[in-house]
Amino acid sequence: MAADLGPRAMFVAGGTDLFPKLKRRQFEVETLIGLDFLSREIRNGSNECIVGAGVTLATASHDAHLNERFAGYAEAAGLVSSPPLRNAGTAGGNLCVDTRCNYYDMTYEWRKAAGFCMKKDGDICLVAPSSSRCWAVSSSDTAPMAIALDGVVSLTGPDGERELPVAALYRDDGMDYMAKQPSEVVTSLRLPADPTTRTAYVKLRRRGSIDFPIAGAAVAVQLDGDEVVGCRIVLSAVASHPLEATAAEEFLKGKRVQADTIRETADIAAKPAKPLDNADLSHFWRKRMVRVVVEQALAEATTRTPGSTVKLLGRNPD
Ligand SMILES: Cc1cc2nc3c(=O)[nH]c(=O)nc-3n(C[C@H](O)[C@H](O)[C@H](O)COP(=O)(O)OP(=O)(O)OC[C@H]3O[C@@H](n4cnc5c(N)ncnc54)[C@H](O)[C@@H]3O)c2cc1C
Ligand code: SF4
Repeated sequence: MAADLGPRAMFVAGGTDLFPKLKRRQFEVETLIGLDFLSREIRNGSNECIVGAGVTLATASHDAHLNERFAGYAEAAGLVSSPPLRNAGTAGGNLCVDTRCNYYDMTYEWRKAAGFCMKKDGDICLVAPSSSRCWAVSSSDTAPMAIALDGVVSLTGPDGERELPVAALYRDDGMDYMAKQPSEVVTSLRLPADPTTRTAYVKLRRRGSIDFPIAGAAVAVQLDGDEVVGCRIVLSAVASHPLEATAAEEFLKGKRVQADTIRETADIAAKPAKPLDNADLSHFWRKRMVRVVVEQALAEATTRTPGSTVKLLGRNPD
């Protein structure tokens, strides 16, 4: 159906992002293709965990195995929006959620008064008028964590099934932000298990009860004693795709976990983040806070004992 209808149709899972955007006429489609049939099962194997794309974020955030083995993922799922939206929003929908911008996530009438922008109905970027591209912000909480964990998605489309690393699922483009074919459905997320990996996700937003991230850090660290043998640091909400801080990862590898090393790593991680004036609060402040969320996430991950249930600190009460 999706291949036949092309841009006249969209998939809907929980609808928590899609329905408000339909109301604001950010999407104008004739047909919605429901994804109710997607698996709502979390399958735990010794080497991996497979999260069905239909699993709700509430289920993922409370799942005992995810909390024990992939604490950062459960934490990120538990920090998405609000309890009612997590009861409906799905793991697959969160990986595919639209990029955001203050000039785009507005009603039709507001956008019309502002003159529209190239992401919908217009032809210029209102944030960076001389730019030929859209800088809308990747705002998924779980995508950076899935990348840090080396996650792989299963995709099903008209040409059959395939797997794709989550890191390869996104483009650095606010409009055409997904690298999969539009008619491909994300059917599951596979997280490879490594008993030496410790993870954490720290998110900054105005209201802890509901808002999208305005900066976030997903980290996965492998330790041998107190030496870092592997490290992934992926930033949320500072670019049009989840942004991996590769220079900081390289810097931390081989070092001992110490407060000053973590601080230095966080300084390096913040450098590639270039927030623009198109999300909540000042972009200068958001840029400064990237260092802080990375430092907090690294400190939290490196002090977590693998296999222990994650603390509920910073999590919404639900
Ligand atoms: C007030 C508010 C606050 C929010 N806060 C956050 C937040 O803090 N963090 C955050 O990450 N999100 C936030 N969201 C967005 C949304 O609630 C979540 O991202 C949610 O996980 C989306 O999942 P869903 O199943 O509802 O997706 P839907 O709304 O059904 O779909 C979202 C998009 O993904 C596509 N899609 C859905 N499932 C699939 C699939 N399996 N395969 C291919 N395409 C698919 C749809 O076509 C659509 O383009 C917020 C939304 C609102 C309204
Ligand atoms: S970044 Fe520019 S083109 Fe993209 S949604 Fe915002 S104003 Fe529109």
